[in-house]
Amino acid sequence: MIRLIDVEMEYENGTEAIRNISLEIQDGEFVFLVGPSGSGKSTLIKLLTGEVIPSAGRIMVNGFAVSCISGRHLPLMRRTLGVIFQDFRLIPKKTVYDNLEFVMRAVGAKPREIRERIPYVLRLVDLTDKADHYPDELSGGEQQRVAIARALVNNPSTIIADEPTGNLDPDRSLELMSLLVRINELGTTVVVVTHEKDLVNRFSKRVVTLDHGEIISDQVGGYVGGNIHG
Ligand code: ADP
Repeated sequence: MIRLIDVEMEYENGTEAIRNISLEIQDGEFVFLVGPSGSGKSTLIKLLTGEVIPSAGRIMVNGFAVSCISGRHLPLMRRTLGVIFQDFRLIPKKTVYDNLEFVMRAVGAKPREIRERIPYVLRLVDLTDKADHYPDELSGGEQQRVAIARALVNNPSTIIADEPTGNLDPDRSLELMSLLVRINELGTTVVVVTHEKDLVNRFSKRVVTLDHGEIISDQVGGYVGGNIHG
């Protein structure tokens, strides 16, 4: 479960990126996080991953108190999260399979677990036949699906995707969002940051809207307000 209580985040230059946010995301939920550019979406994600520390308030992520976490516990907390970035961040000199093996080895997975888990996640993202390909031999949509496979491979309880469809055409974006919905239906909590209003409105999911560092709406199905850019 993710829980933020009265969280504020002020950067060193005085920018108040998050102003008194309280938010709860239950295990197994699917949540879109939307809002205009500069509204605090990335900062909120960074607070969840422990990349930045709140100026005030408390943050719990999957049983860890992230707002006051020790250096020793931070990697354990991060293992409960699978983060998907817009720019994929795949290792270019490794094949799809080796990219996944690399992150499993990093957390000390056993060879047998690796042999069982990688084919499973590749099947899930429909990339079984690309296991031996290098990232630059794949389309943008396929690379993004490798990024999803990599986020999933260590079986996190929560997937956080930051603008996952940013580089994809509308058909591929819809496919990718549908894949995240399917992953959610298999039991993983999914939080998706996006500015794609049309896409969000195609799914009846919880939508949390940020503006100027505050939650201005939290409801199922659809954006509130007008156009949202960035
Ligand atoms: P979004 O992801 O919704 O575009 P951000 O979380 O990136 O919003 O930014 C929220 C606010 O915090 C903006 O005013 C932005 O300029 C500011 N901000 C973001 N990162 C930093 C930083 N490292 N230092 C200072 N200000 C920042």
